[in-house]
Amino acid sequence: MAETLIRGAARIRAMDDTPDPADGSDILIRDGIIAAIGPSLETRGEIVDADRCVITPGLVNTHHHLYQTLTRAVPAGQDALLFGWLKALYPIWARFTPDHIHVATQLGLAELALSGCTTSSDHLYLFPNGARLDDTIHAASEIGLRFHPTRGSMSIGESEGGLPPDALVECEAPILDDCIRVVDAFHDPAPGSMCRVGLAPCSPFSVSRELMRDTAILARDKGVRLHSHLAENDEDVAYSLDRFGCRPGQYAEDLGWTGDDVWHAHCVKLDAAEIALFARTGTGVAHCPCSNCRLGSGIAPLRDMLDAGVPVGLGVDGSASNDAANLMDEARQAMLLQRVARGADAMSPEAALRVATRGGARVLGRDDVGRIAVGMRADLALWPVDDVEAAGSWDVAALPLAGARRVRHLFVEGRQVVRDGAVTTVDLPHLIERAEGLVRGLMA
Ligand SMILES: [Zn+2]
Repeated sequence: MAETLIRGAARIRAMDDTPDPADGSDILIRDGIIAAIGPSLETRGEIVDADRCVITPGLVNTHHHLYQTLTRAVPAGQDALLFGWLKALYPIWARFTPDHIHVATQLGLAELALSGCTTSSDHLYLFPNGARLDDTIHAASEIGLRFHPTRGSMSIGESEGGLPPDALVECEAPILDDCIRVVDAFHDPAPGSMCRVGLAPCSPFSVSRELMRDTAILARDKGVRLHSHLAENDEDVAYSLDRFGCRPGQYAEDLGWTGDDVWHAHCVKLDAAEIALFARTGTGVAHCPCSNCRLGSGIAPLRDMLDAGVPVGLGVDGSASNDAANLMDEARQAMLLQRVARGADAMSPEAALRVATRGGARVLGRDDVGRIAVGMRADLALWPVDDVEAAGSWDVAALPLAGARRVRHLFVEGRQVVRDGAVTTVDLPHLIERAEGLVRGLMA
């Protein structure tokens, strides 16, 4: 029986439906689960002092393209809108190998872990030079974050009016065959699962209607979740109106892409009827505020979505459109953008943290993470209250407001993935060296 006692937290922001535990409480972790919360708990296991930390549930990242971690700040994509940005990057991604995917995944997940993330989804939709979803899954299991990889796809290349080059698209029958293969090989629906696979055609502008429809049928047959991009910016909506004769929400609904087993990234341009559709059907949204700013896509109607009851989580989005992957920064940016749009009372730091934790867990279909309570999985982020960002705070728990950026400790399924601000599971300096070598090769 493995036990860890987290002793004497300065504050616990549990995000539970019950009042927070008293300041100074302990959390006892046993076999990956929160076994007890309260004063003066005892253990024969390891003890981690938390008297200089605020504890929150581990943050949940609902949208990412981890492979892009090796294409941050590419000059040709620095100032382009979505479609131009993609066209600048596709030729670089076409040169990726399984090694690029592995290193990029580990680097991206290490960065997320340091920013308090314990569960991350990933959307991999191109498979050049023998790359497979398996490369990301093996990489993530070494890092130790809870992982929701999605098997993406692109099937409409430039020659058929799509956006990606023909060399990066796949035929639809092998796409569906590989979806079945990865679900059968890796998807674990059990409570506490460290790997749940989803199916994720890249976007309405890179796959056919038939592949959208068939993927939805397959996902429901297999009992896995569906993910894609939707209504990201004005170009995206214009493409939908031009090609499909309807808005993105209608397109999604017609093809089986609404429901509580579906979540869409961005949704910056959802109108009132589409928000009502998402609320009525329980369709989730991955809100990616930094990426939306970076690509000039607009301010998503987050307040309206939350008020309507749409499940919403946060996503850092790929590291080529952010170009950082700090999930607490996303919580801060989400809060600030709603204030720009709606006034200073539009979103509290508490509400932003809630979206980053419970909101994300709901979007990914998890009821075992996202809040701190006895019986929940032990996914915990410990934020310092004695570093330079926190110094002077009158409310140490207002983390997104004061600009917390890095955890001191991070636990996933009770395992300590970050200790004293350093990732424990991989040799990060060595990983960074490998990444730099691969990037030099891509530049050559
Ligand atoms: Zn994306």
